[in-house]
Amino acid sequence: MPETMKSFDFDRPELLPWLAGHWRRLWDSYREGRLGHALLLSGPAGIGKRHIADRFSAALLCRAPGADGTACGTCTDCTLVRAGNHPDLVHVRPEPDAKSPEIRADAIRTLCGQQSLTASRGERKILQIVPAEAMNLFAANSLLKTLEEPVASSLLVLISEDPSRLPATVTSRCQRITLQPPDAGIGSDWLSARIDPRRFDVPLLLRLAHEAPLRALALADDEALARREQAFEQFAAVGLGSQDPIAGAEAWQTLEPRLVLEWLTAWVSDLLRLVQTPSATYLSSPDKRGPLTDLAKLVDPAPVHRYLRHVLNYRALVDAPLNKGLLYEGLLVDWARLFRGTE
Ligand SMILES: [Zn+2]
Repeated sequence: MPETMKSFDFDRPELLPWLAGHWRRLWDSYREGRLGHALLLSGPAGIGKRHIADRFSAALLCRAPGADGTACGTCTDCTLVRAGNHPDLVHVRPEPDAKSPEIRADAIRTLCGQQSLTASRGERKILQIVPAEAMNLFAANSLLKTLEEPVASSLLVLISEDPSRLPATVTSRCQRITLQPPDAGIGSDWLSARIDPRRFDVPLLLRLAHEAPLRALALADDEALARREQAFEQFAAVGLGSQDPIAGAEAWQTLEPRLVLEWLTAWVSDLLRLVQTPSATYLSSPDKRGPLTDLAKLVDPAPVHRYLRHVLNYRALVDAPLNKGLLYEGLLVDWARLFRGTE
């Protein structure tokens, strides 16, 4: 997700403004000796979970952090963290080439054993598990053993977009920090300072990013926006009957299923809003109000609800290996049927 692009940066160590309160409480809990052995940082994509995790990891490993917890950036430990090879900062992630994107029990067992969690340079060893919900059940059970008998000098940092997928036995043993999107003013001020507001529609980007500023920043990309435009054109044309669904599916072949399913969720949800209330004020894709209003006049809500449920079911399965061709064909053929009354 876009968040990986914007974790803590030593050259720009300023705190993301909407995280200031969380940061202060976290740093105070460390300074006052109240830090537990495990943190669970949760919140939507692009909100700054990794930013706060990396900033905190750097601060704990730094030999001379500032009073506000900003790592100095120049000591030996900061140099090692910056180079990505500090021995006391370990990231556990799904293996990139594995068939299923899981964090497996053997990875957790290897990295969370008593010996592996002993700091080799300073006082603390930090293990970040990203994304924590990628742990399979066996991995979560292995982690539970570490949580039940923590190593004094260790800190486990679990990062999750969807903590409901973690066992309660794990989450209940973590100090929880739940990040929320900032108020619109804070997000748009921050974003406007980083992109050209004459070139990009700041409120639209924030809306498309569910108000998560880092994600909105990642969306400020001409090519990515053009792909969304083209995908929507095909989606609308299939609905209106001017595009064959199979040809539409072929045109979508270069798109990532995760992205397509997210767009479809937004467009179909908006369609339902407009079927029910043509003047609906909130739309998740407000730039598509015109064409979605035209489509809304052609459908009945019940089958659209069923269609949306299909899309959401696929979204829940998106981490499993999917046949893109079949997925897109199925989605667009079913979409076309909503307008032909043959469902
Ligand atoms: Zn330092």
